[in-house]
Amino acid sequence: MKFNKQLENIKVYEGGKPIELVVEEFGIDAKDIIKLASNENPFGTSEKVVKAIQENAHLVHMYPDDSMSEIKEALADKFQVQTSNIIMGSGSDEVIAFAINAKANKYKKVLTARTTFAMYDIYSRQVGAKVIKTPSHQHNLDEFLHLYKKEKDIGVIFLCLPNNPLGECLKKEDVFNFIKKIDDNTLVVVDGAYQDFAMVKNPQMKIDPKELIETFPNTLYLGTFSKSYGLGGMRVGYGIASEEIMTALYKMRPPFNVTTLSLKAAKAALEDEAFVAKTIENNFSEMKKYEDFAKANKIDFIDSYTNFITFTFDSKRNSKNIAQILLKKGIIIRDLTSYGVNGIRVTIGTPEQNSRFLEAFKEVL
Ligand SMILES: *Cc1c(COP(=O)(O)O)cnc(C)c1O
Repeated sequence: MKFNKQLENIKVYEGGKPIELVVEEFGIDAKDIIKLASNENPFGTSEKVVKAIQENAHLVHMYPDDSMSEIKEALADKFQVQTSNIIMGSGSDEVIAFAINAKANKYKKVLTARTTFAMYDIYSRQVGAKVIKTPSHQHNLDEFLHLYKKEKDIGVIFLCLPNNPLGECLKKEDVFNFIKKIDDNTLVVVDGAYQDFAMVKNPQMKIDPKELIETFPNTLYLGTFSKSYGLGGMRVGYGIASEEIMTALYKMRPPFNVTTLSLKAAKAALEDEAFVAKTIENNFSEMKKYEDFAKANKIDFIDSYTNFITFTFDSKRNSKNIAQILLKKGIIIRDLTSYGVNGIRVTIGTPEQNSRFLEAFKEVL
């Protein structure tokens, strides 16, 4: 059977290897496996979330409240925007798809950093939009601007701040100065999946969604419950933008795209800021161990504003092999070969998980 031509060059997204598969493949006991591959919260999620899911289990026979007003009001309150500025997605992933479907096509290209979140590329290709990437792996706004001017027909620009899978971030001032130079008919998406980590490490990196969308009506801010809130399994994310952009995005949204239990979980998660604070505190104190390890062992790493750290290797080492050896030891991390990077991305875990990883990593090296 022949399918749409634009699908031919799409590489299927591969998530972090699930624990069950490692149990099967290597016969390792599930309790001896640690997964530091998908930037999940090492502490699970808030107890308030678990309680909310249990208390609302009796609602599962009914369709969700498609207005999603409860969670939208909570988010509007948190970010001091109107509920009409918010759209919910089955993960912020889905909001990325809405944006691309609304604004990119065969004639309108998408501009991204060379090494960034894989879904920007995949969704763009689905609609037949060409993806232009900067020469540098990490975000370089001069290169973005140069390509933007050169290409002329850019429909969407993605800024992943901080960037997954590399971990770097940009200062708000630099980002705003860049967006100023972009035509207001181009949609600029700021993916803030790790913003709550970045703003704690360096407040100059903080991008406030309200300030962003009020200064630039052509911007869309993305947030997710999958990382700091520990809700990766519930699939809840959101977009914040002007009402004009919302009107277009809502035309892309399937009905009931976020489940009742996911909406309740997200609402409860917002009510436990202490859990998020503990997560972020552990993240940066533990990240220091990784940095010290890298310095002591002369391994390059990228200064990270996220809940993971990326190590890069010279040509004497091969990240794919390193990932494979670690896997046999029951440690799942992310090899970046498919991103064109000889490196690995490691999610910061609990203190015990991190010690185990670093011990194994030392052996492998
Ligand atoms: C994890 C992540 C997302 C979204 O994840 P969802 O689980 O779909 O909400 C979006 N962007 C980046 C950069 C991410 O790392």
